[in-house]
Amino acid sequence: MLIVGAALLLPTAVPDDLALPSYDIADVFGSAVIEKARRYERFLYADWVLTEITLLVVLWIYSRKGVAFMRESAAGPIGTGMLLGMLGLAIVWLVQLPFRVAAHWWDRRYDVTDLDYLSWVFQDWGLLAGEFTSICLALLIVMGLARWLGDHWWLPGAAVFVAIGALFSFVAPYLDFGATKPLDDPVLTEAAAQYERDYGLAHIPLRVQEVSADTDQANAFAYGLGPSRRVVLWDTLLYEPFTQGEQKVVLAHELAHHSSEHLPKGIGWFAIFAIPGAWILMRTTRRRGGMGRAEAVPLALLVVAVLQLAASPAQNWISRRMEAEADWKALEVTRDPASLEMLMVNFSRTSLGDPDPPGWTQLFLGTHPTLADRVAMAHAWNEPAGH
Ligand SMILES: [Zn+2]
Repeated sequence: MLIVGAALLLPTAVPDDLALPSYDIADVFGSAVIEKARRYERFLYADWVLTEITLLVVLWIYSRKGVAFMRESAAGPIGTGMLLGMLGLAIVWLVQLPFRVAAHWWDRRYDVTDLDYLSWVFQDWGLLAGEFTSICLALLIVMGLARWLGDHWWLPGAAVFVAIGALFSFVAPYLDFGATKPLDDPVLTEAAAQYERDYGLAHIPLRVQEVSADTDQANAFAYGLGPSRRVVLWDTLLYEPFTQGEQKVVLAHELAHHSSEHLPKGIGWFAIFAIPGAWILMRTTRRRGGMGRAEAVPLALLVVAVLQLAASPAQNWISRRMEAEADWKALEVTRDPASLEMLMVNFSRTSLGDPDPPGWTQLFLGTHPTLADRVAMAHAWNEPAGH
């Protein structure tokens, strides 16, 4: 059933036989930018590897020793499980802190962010609070179901997580709290309306998020489901070096995510990973008496971390397919491969992205095709044979 689901979710609008033509990357991106981007990214890759290793080692130790922190408390098994979950998270956070500080220091050094350390810590604080809440909720659900259904908790458990994921996807745009405002640009609004007609989409609100005080990096995203669908542009995209043609490509790309139902499909993919993931969690925690017992929680944290890392190459591959589809559809409606190419060049400059990063980094971190491949797709679209 999962395979059938995957087969249904997999096809994209990108022609199956599309071959990416080769070209001189230094010619398009400039060798100075590529050199600088490589130096910048090399450090962050090393930092990422160390962070991951630390995470797994710390959780491995915690899975063996963590139970010792457990006291027969008035909290009961689920309460004790939550305490163990939060303690594990706090230890991981503390041990990883130096690596995050190092990455932030590096970003500031390369001028990728202007955010000072204090604002950065507070930003991180909000994230941490969210993680604590999520882990408590997750343990409440899993442990509650496991105490009720025993080893059969995994399927309803996975279903609950998928439902929460879908609910969150739907509500997220409403939890904006004034972080964005409507896009006030008649030319772009008109272009977006045209793309919506081309895609057969209903009207989708365009919003702008102000980040230019903290960074020059440019970004945009599509989120929400059905009536909550939105496209958000970072205001950095609206300034130089980005041209109107490039801004239109971004809008067409983001609207393509909605037109290809990438958000609902993402929830489908989540189910395809969550169901076997929950089963593996059930099997591996049996030796600690199963997820109904607090003793299983430290081991469960390790299992989830390993599963997340193991699944990331497949998840990134799926994400790259969706991103390639959004690029392809953007080319079809804007018919402007030159702007897509310049957009990638400017992404590389403003975010210091290596256009052609090492393969292993794409495997574990590549949610998008490489900038070099995205330019190659623009070239492929532009080839006289096709158009
Ligand atoms: Zn995208």
